[in-house]
Amino acid sequence: MVDIDNRMAPGSAVYKTLLESTKAIPWKIDWDSKQFAYIGPQIEALLGWAPSSWESVGDWASRMHPADREWVVDFCVAQSQAGVDHEADYRALTRDGRYVWIRDVVHVVRNPDGTVDSLVGFMFDISERKRTEQQLISLQKEMEELSFRDGLTGVANRRRFDAIIELEWSNARRNRQPLSMLMMDIDYFKQYNDRYGHLEGDACLKHVARILNSAATRARDLLARFGGEEFVLVLPETDEAAAGKLAERCRDLILAEQIPHERSPIGPVLTVSIGAGTMIPGHDDELRPFIDAVDKRLYEAKQQGRNRIVAE
Ligand code: GH3
Ligand code: MG
Ligand code: MG
Repeated sequence: MVDIDNRMAPGSAVYKTLLESTKAIPWKIDWDSKQFAYIGPQIEALLGWAPSSWESVGDWASRMHPADREWVVDFCVAQSQAGVDHEADYRALTRDGRYVWIRDVVHVVRNPDGTVDSLVGFMFDISERKRTEQQLISLQKEMEELSFRDGLTGVANRRRFDAIIELEWSNARRNRQPLSMLMMDIDYFKQYNDRYGHLEGDACLKHVARILNSAATRARDLLARFGGEEFVLVLPETDEAAAGKLAERCRDLILAEQIPHERSPIGPVLTVSIGAGTMIPGHDDELRPFIDAVDKRLYEAKQQGRNRIVAE
């Protein structure tokens, strides 16, 4: 009969075959000398460095991405000294100058008196997992981006407007700077949809958003879709005169585009009405009444015949 215990004894051929046929790469470091006692031949297939080139922990540390090296070495040394099993993810340098993500899982072998004898571990190639992780992170970023963007026009949505206007209101109050706002609404858009169809209406909204976006040029200017065919421009550090000019520019740019609107009672092309407001918020001022006041001016622009701007 075969002696199973003997056949499976450490150092036996079976152990060696097992260790060297797994995808994980086994290794052993003698703690006193900090020399590799063993490293699986699989290391060469993964990183290109022959097993014989892994002599000391210095070789291990030097073949690590510089950005990972300090914390990984410090962490592993501290854990080993404390006799605690541990694991670390880092980028290992390949012989041809690339990096591969490795998870190193380490077991601390102690002497009967408790001192550290050696470290044994397995290196796992986790580059595929890391790639997926990175993809997930960038997907999440993209989703966050999208959640603040209007699906049709691609400009900021109402949610983003609500967040930014609060922020800019506080900024303006703190820095005693004027904050301006333009509310813009397309004239007779119901009739536009009736005449050209809803899909053409959607295309028109995209077109208008593009034009309005081109009108505002400063980095902190924000164009948002406020509602159906209503847009709002937030203009930080912009006084009344500058806001008035920008409102004119918006109205002119839309007119210049000569978008046909056959059913508009006020002319053959698409027009917008604009309400404008500027304020240096004081400590007792609130945001809501400011927005309502600008909205009211937009309503007045409609009342006064449309295709015009009402400010103050
Ligand atoms: P005015 O503003 O000049 O008073 O007239 P209006 O016809 O534009 O009136 P109102 O603002 O009440 O109507 C807005 C219309 O815009 C109603 C709706 O059919 C249309 N609308 C709103 N959102 C969308 C959209 O996403 N796509 C399209 N195609 N139409 C939209
Ligand atoms: Mg309208
Ligand atoms: Mg409207």
